[in-house]
Amino acid sequence: MNFEELVKVARKVENTTSRKEKIRLLADFFSRLNPEEAAIAARLLSGRIFPEYRDVALGVGWSTLREALSMKSTVKPLTTFYAKVTLKELVSVLEKTANTSSRKKKISYIYSLISRMSDEEIEFLLRIIFGEVRIGANIGILLETAAKLAHCKLEIVRRAYMYLSDIGDVISTAIKGGCKALETVKITLFRPVKPMLAAMAYTVEEILREHGGKTALEYKYDGVRVQVHRKGRSVKVFSRRLSDITPYVPEAVSAAEKAGADEFILDGEAVGVEGGKPIAFQEISRRIRRKKDKEKFFSRIPLHVYFFDILYLNGRDLTSLKYIERRRILESICNEECLARMTVTSNLNEASSFYSSAIEAGHEGVMAKRLDSPYEPGTRGKHWLKLKASDTIDCVIVAAEWGHGRRSGWLSDYHLAVYDEKNDRFVRVGKTYKGLTDAEFEEMTKRLLELKVAEEDYIVYVKPEIVVEVEYAEIQRSPRYESGYALRFARIKRIRWDRSPYDITTLEELEKRYQAQHRRGASGENNSSRAAG
Ligand code: AMP
Repeated sequence: MNFEELVKVARKVENTTSRKEKIRLLADFFSRLNPEEAAIAARLLSGRIFPEYRDVALGVGWSTLREALSMKSTVKPLTTFYAKVTLKELVSVLEKTANTSSRKKKISYIYSLISRMSDEEIEFLLRIIFGEVRIGANIGILLETAAKLAHCKLEIVRRAYMYLSDIGDVISTAIKGGCKALETVKITLFRPVKPMLAAMAYTVEEILREHGGKTALEYKYDGVRVQVHRKGRSVKVFSRRLSDITPYVPEAVSAAEKAGADEFILDGEAVGVEGGKPIAFQEISRRIRRKKDKEKFFSRIPLHVYFFDILYLNGRDLTSLKYIERRRILESICNEECLARMTVTSNLNEASSFYSSAIEAGHEGVMAKRLDSPYEPGTRGKHWLKLKASDTIDCVIVAAEWGHGRRSGWLSDYHLAVYDEKNDRFVRVGKTYKGLTDAEFEEMTKRLLELKVAEEDYIVYVKPEIVVEVEYAEIQRSPRYESGYALRFARIKRIRWDRSPYDITTLEELEKRYQAQHRRGASGENNSSRAAG
């Protein structure tokens, strides 16, 4: 199948507002493809080039593209008849582009594609590269399309997606094996699954109420999420973005080697420790990205791994077991040192003092886990609730402004956006230049320029890629931004290199927080009353 065909169907999907019609168009298109092509097409239509679990960066910025485009306008083709670019060829050339660090080679690979593309194809390719596909075929719509193709219930497709961690594989499984194949998708060793996530809670009382009067509270460690897979002597560690970070976290590998079983998947958090105290997350996150002098850096900041869940043991998928049963199994294979501190309680005072002890020990807060809840990969629901000492949201940077005075030469004023899931777009909620160190401004400027999509006056528009955790005083309603909200006194708490832009706070969550803030305002509560509930 040629890329041209995909662009045509993308255009049609973009031009219809009916969800049902979008799904019909997509299902009709996929049913004309073989499973391999369908997987590629699904990724491209959702704005991705590679499977999500691979976390590969193309490493192509605007200046590289501009050069490839200018070659197209100056170099005369040898013949006017040329073979159209196929889907498979497109992805294999982009794979080569990602795998080389040579700019010259990147330009020549991109040129080899665009020299054989129409203007419309090039425009769509650029939208893919800059993460701006947004034809309204988001993951939700593609999952519904898979359900239609396989004559399957949506919840079965959703479950398969969480285990496969790739929309392409979901669509190809639906085409290849129908509903039966989707139903039998299983957790597999060395293939990361999307980690389970938590919703926000504001008081201990709310947690107990939500969890039916009794809950398991764990310390919420402030580090890097690790999913550790082991079979015999082979161990791999995956990050929250599903990338393989094994070489960067040897402590997680040795913790897995010490565990009393041969084959398992554990979920946990790796925390930096200095003098027995947890240290700032930023330090560890820097380690994960370190290329040079890894070992020297490692010994400076040792990590400690706290496991809090087990998903798989000796050939058995444990995700449908109750939390409390999984925890017992986890306790039977890990010693106390490697386990997240946990207590089961139905008592408000006891819960409050556990929360206070977590904060006193230098942790972020607590996680509350419903005792009878299964492990639901990729799901952010109320089975897990987080209670933190400070309110923060995760935003993606969509543009940045050149600074003045002391900050001149740096892109230092950042436009922050949350994810509007319904419309598959990022919508702005504010701007800030506060919170970063000089070294971070410098690194940020470099990274943002690599992601540049356009520049207008003093504003540089970028591919939404860099995620930041943002503190704020209040969420206000505001017509200034397309989200309808504005953050008051926004300040960057830290750069979250470990998060993907699809992982950030959604507009729906922001709305809920806005309402919760109003309720709290009305009842006179504030942050300091968390522990007391
Ligand atoms: P947040 O990053 O604020 O959305 O909180 C969720 C993150 O907290 C998870 O992705 C984990 O990386 C981290 N975390 C720390 N301690 C725990 C715990 N005991 N259980 C689950 N997640 C935890």
